[in-house]
Amino acid sequence: MTRAFNFCAGPAALPTEVLEQARDEMLDWQGRGISVMETSHRNPEFMAVAAQAEQDLRDLLAIPDNYRVLFMQGGATAQFATVPLNLLGKRMSADYLDTGHWSSKAIKEASRYCQVNVAGSSADANYTTVPDASRWRLSTDAAYVHYTPNETIGGLAFVDIPDTGDVPLVADMSSSILSEPLDISRFGLIYAGAQKNIGPAGITLVIVREDLMGFASDACPSLQNYQLVSDNDSMLNTPPTFAWYLSGLVFQWLKRQGGLKAIQALNQRKAGKLYAAIDGSDFYSNPIETAYRSIMNVPFRLADDALNSTFLSESADAGLLNLKGHRVVGGMRASIYNAVPEAAVDALVAFMADFERRYG
Ligand code: PMP
Repeated sequence: MTRAFNFCAGPAALPTEVLEQARDEMLDWQGRGISVMETSHRNPEFMAVAAQAEQDLRDLLAIPDNYRVLFMQGGATAQFATVPLNLLGKRMSADYLDTGHWSSKAIKEASRYCQVNVAGSSADANYTTVPDASRWRLSTDAAYVHYTPNETIGGLAFVDIPDTGDVPLVADMSSSILSEPLDISRFGLIYAGAQKNIGPAGITLVIVREDLMGFASDACPSLQNYQLVSDNDSMLNTPPTFAWYLSGLVFQWLKRQGGLKAIQALNQRKAGKLYAAIDGSDFYSNPIETAYRSIMNVPFRLADDALNSTFLSESADAGLLNLKGHRVVGGMRASIYNAVPEAAVDALVAFMADFERRYG
């Protein structure tokens, strides 16, 4: 069996070792004669899986004790509403930075619950850069400031963590969590859908500072209430047990790779090679201002869009899958999350050079 090189933006590649372990344990987990999916989430053996996953995540990210880790459902999209429903308290407004598709979605959903102040936007630069912090119009009475550190579709990433003073900072880290070490203490709340660097779709990670819980609006569904979810160890109802288990295997795999410093070095090397291939050619291009290029999602265009379908079919034949860009930007996109090996990037770079030779 050969595994293809998978550049999907999400649900994305999972480490082969993790899939092998899940396969080996599928029919007979821990010698019990059943799979992990076939037992109660309240049995001690599953509770141990859940607790270990949390502990491994805490170790990887060095999460301080005054932060709770929640495993929720509904993806990052549910969090677009869950955040204002929980964090507004008595306040009426929140600040949002607008840097592309996903921050725009977060803004649109939050606008149903509060007054959104768009404190900075790079829309007029077609989202090819991060708006200059000196020009942000942060308000003093905002309940929180929300931003998207890595725009998955645009391939745009913040370099610095915004300084918002005493106003809690909220980040949608769906496509960047666990790609590099992170100073959690700078954030009030972090959320991420699992299906890029964490595990399979179906589970949503929330890391929240304890003092921000307990202010949910009466209209907030119980299942989306951070305090209730936390009080019930993320088992207010039946959690997605298999996704939780598999995420735990990914955390253990990450530890075996040497943790986030080691994975960051690898991610930077992978991205460096791909951007060098793009920049070193007149045939490929990436529009993002160099300093703000994502190391996770690398969109690129061919000199002639008429060649797109040929590029996609030939790359797929060469075992390089899911390179089609998002429909709103077109072109190509290579997502190179933690589980995408350096060999995949090497193979893509070689394919790109060969394609350019034949069609450029
Ligand atoms: N935010 C970001 C940055 C994303 O990349 C995505 C998914 N690609 C979402 C939000 C939406 O996530 P979900 O499908 O888990 O709701």
